[in-house]
Amino acid sequence: MYRYDKIWINTRLGKLDLNGKIVIQDNKFIAIKDGKIAKIDEMKNFGSFTCKDIFDTKNRLITTSLVDCHTHLIYGGNRSNEFERRLNGESYADITKSGGGIISSIKSTRQESFNEIYESSAKRLKALIKEGVTTIEIKTGYGLDLDSELKMLEIAQKLEQNFPIHIQKTFLGAHAVPSEYKNRADDYIDYVCETLMPKIALHVDAVDAYTEHLAFSITQTQKVFKKAKSLGLHVKIHAEQFSMMGATKLACKYKALSSDHLEHIDEDSVKEMAKSGTVAVLLPGAYYFLRETKLPPIELFRKHGVLIAIATDLNPGTSALCSLQLMMNMSSVIFGLTVDEAFEAVTRNAAKALGLEKSKGSLEEGKDADFVIWDIEHPRDLICSFRPTSVFLSVQNGELVDV
Ligand SMILES: [Zn+2]
Repeated sequence: MYRYDKIWINTRLGKLDLNGKIVIQDNKFIAIKDGKIAKIDEMKNFGSFTCKDIFDTKNRLITTSLVDCHTHLIYGGNRSNEFERRLNGESYADITKSGGGIISSIKSTRQESFNEIYESSAKRLKALIKEGVTTIEIKTGYGLDLDSELKMLEIAQKLEQNFPIHIQKTFLGAHAVPSEYKNRADDYIDYVCETLMPKIALHVDAVDAYTEHLAFSITQTQKVFKKAKSLGLHVKIHAEQFSMMGATKLACKYKALSSDHLEHIDEDSVKEMAKSGTVAVLLPGAYYFLRETKLPPIELFRKHGVLIAIATDLNPGTSALCSLQLMMNMSSVIFGLTVDEAFEAVTRNAAKALGLEKSKGSLEEGKDADFVIWDIEHPRDLICSFRPTSVFLSVQNGELVDV
């Protein structure tokens, strides 16, 4: 019996210190046992270990894997026609009112078969895995009836079985009012709380809501969150994207893992996030895609010590951008995150936004052996240039990922 299953030697570790600064540590080794990081130590202490699998990284940079903490990766159809309509002058709100937007994705997701949606979703997932992502969150919310929501969750389950990826599943029943409940949003929320959530709770990790004038009110969201908590689920929220509604404050009362978008958030709400430990998940892809002009208040998050994560928000209508590395670049260029912040935003803080901070998001003994061996010198190279081929090797739960 070997003490370790695999050992990676001559590594150059890129890690965050406790203050969120990237530090580079040369001449280290990482030993893996049962899919976990069992030991990280200096090469000078390596001599005595035997192990059947020893990999020499030849002083390549290793960091923890990337975490995409907000996606709508599973969906049917394609909304490039709406992209064209927006370029021709229509607003997102107008397109939504005319049956486009989320409603059109619901139609396609209900109509397409399990296999059709699985195949198109698998392509998107592969693109993220190739960039060094080994943990992803996927929301439901394009089904909005029991069969279609369960179909989305079964697709997520099959993706997790077939790909080297950990998937956190979030129920987003309160995404839009489906056409059969047109003008009856309260009735639909009752259906979400009384019919869908009890049957879906076992299959998901958290419950999300889209709280916006285009979608659901504070009162409706509160109903969803109360039910989620009674079922023992975490909550998350899409909040203050187009207007300041106070949705984040509500989410903080329910100890939300994260509040996402936040371009319009005010200082009082930011203070509440700091108190409840809610992560600010910023979505530069949606900001860019919709040509928004109000930036999220990065200075307020810094001032009050709110952790910032970034994610792709990958979806067919408002962020059809399948690259977390591109989001890192955008978060720095457009939102002004520093290199250290952008790196922390897709690793440690993204793991926390999913409630996975004990097992994911950093290179530490005892955590899952999820890491990337890069073809770059320093994590800042990931943020400075958009080069989705920068992964040399990727490892998930101690096993090599086929990229
Ligand atoms: Zn979203």
